[in-house]
Amino acid sequence: MIMTKRSNYKIRLAIKLVLLSILLWGGDSCKSQDKLDISEEIDEIAEESEAPLAKGCPDTEYDDWKTSKYVLPYPVGKSYMVTLGHCGGSYHSQGQPDQFAVDFAMDIGQTVTAARAGTVVYVEESGIDGEFPNNLVVVEHEDGTFAQYMHLTQNGALVNKGDAVEQGQSLGLSGNTGLAGFPHLHFVVTKKGDFHYPYTSIPTTFSNTLPNQRSLAGGYRYSALDY
Ligand SMILES: [Zn+2]
Repeated sequence: MIMTKRSNYKIRLAIKLVLLSILLWGGDSCKSQDKLDISEEIDEIAEESEAPLAKGCPDTEYDDWKTSKYVLPYPVGKSYMVTLGHCGGSYHSQGQPDQFAVDFAMDIGQTVTAARAGTVVYVEESGIDGEFPNNLVVVEHEDGTFAQYMHLTQNGALVNKGDAVEQGQSLGLSGNTGLAGFPHLHFVVTKKGDFHYPYTSIPTTFSNTLPNQRSLAGGYRYSALDY
């Protein structure tokens, strides 16, 4: 299954390259919009293929990314840049509650989706962008861990407390509330128990993007692939 997923990715890339060649040098029948979409996608993949393997946090064991329970917290086909990964400094420094958090640069109003299925246990959406409080949606998983999706825009929650959510379901709209500094999504998975800050974060990898043995590398874009 693992190999299938990876080979599928390569096969799809090969098919896209062939399609792109046909579109660029082939018939007049192709719509120019198709040309644009495919070449944009190729550009994205090309850019991503240069993403190095992240170091992650020292002395940490990571689950196999290919079979990770988590997918990127945005819709398939979307691509965002990681501005701060695990132990990436600032509030994500080693030993901090958010050492295993990942920041994705996202303009205000982008759709944030569930990285893993669960039940919504907390929603805050009263914050105004650029101010406090921090708007967030917290989802509890079947093993008692929590995924926390932070800095959402005002009234940007698309779910209510108590809702069951599927993996990939829309949870909210990104924003710039709380201690954000610039519009981004702060994604962190925290231990069973109390999900309030200062929580204990746990390492996560993502199954529907490029290899990320030690999670995602800061400074690079990651596309959400089919899963
Ligand atoms: Zn962060």
